[in-house]
Amino acid sequence: MDTIGVIGAGQMGAGIAQVAAQAGYRVLLSDVSRDVADKGKTGVAKRLARAVEKEQIAAADRDAALDRIEAVDSLAAMAEAALVIEAATEREAVKRAIFAEVAKALGPDAILATNTSSIPITRLAQATPDPARFMGVHFFNPVPVMKPIELIRGLATSDATVARVEAFARSLGKTVVHANDAPGFVVNRVLLPMLNEAIFALGEGVANVRDIDAGVSLGLNHPMGPLTLADFIGLDTCLEILRVMQEGTGDPKFRPAPLLVKYVEAGWLGRKTGRGFYDYAGAEPVPTR
Ligand code: NAD
Repeated sequence: MDTIGVIGAGQMGAGIAQVAAQAGYRVLLSDVSRDVADKGKTGVAKRLARAVEKEQIAAADRDAALDRIEAVDSLAAMAEAALVIEAATEREAVKRAIFAEVAKALGPDAILATNTSSIPITRLAQATPDPARFMGVHFFNPVPVMKPIELIRGLATSDATVARVEAFARSLGKTVVHANDAPGFVVNRVLLPMLNEAIFALGEGVANVRDIDAGVSLGLNHPMGPLTLADFIGLDTCLEILRVMQEGTGDPKFRPAPLLVKYVEAGWLGRKTGRGFYDYAGAEPVPTR
């Protein structure tokens, strides 16, 4: 498995491209256009440059990793990939359209995987050319830093597919966690209700942004507060995950906080748009409420 395809060059896709290239894989990186894919690669270059400055990696290793990432302008290029990981926007229609397009290029043994945070793998598999060669490979953000990868098999995923993707995940130096195909898998099933509750508390005036984050991070010994983390994940992604869990379980405990919906409607999606529960325009994030 020498060549990997990554579809979606946003926070997650660019991170996956980076760790795969650093592990020695050639990576084909695509997005809605060649320009957007190039931006993803530029982001990787910046992160690797910082790692060189901090003497975490050698300049030659940075250059070699960057050389292995190729921004491409169409999914036809994925014909060369043994494993294609879809990491596009968390909307089922977007992912289904991508699968239909990439199906035309995918080799007969190639595996298609999705980094979806919450959409059922078995359902998505129906939109892929071969459900036996499809599964979930759920990375965490930021990909180069976070250790686990959740592997989720759909009903039709073959043992050979799981074995090959598990070997790939381990070759990146990650820790593999197996989860069943249930809404939110393991980590988001536990995490999102906490983030959502923090946003309810903010909306109901229980405390301000700084106090909620300080209280929870210090009181629960978490490295960061829930509102900081929600901004980091992306508020649109948080909202989509909650909606999928609410719909998938029928349980009202997953209903999204009205304030989360409002922020997403306002286009305040967190760090990636420069504003969420914090404003990121200055050197230090400033709480907005
Ligand atoms: P993002 O918004 O940073 O990036 C999404 C990228 O997908 C964008 O660059 C967008 O242009 C691209 N895209 C949209 N439509 C496309 C198409 N038709 N073809 C190709 N590219 C397309 O989002 P993200 O945070 O990187 O999330 C991507 C996926 O990873 C989602 O499924 C999300 O649920 C999942 N995920 C996110 C996190 C997180 O913490 N942000 C963690 C684990 C998994």
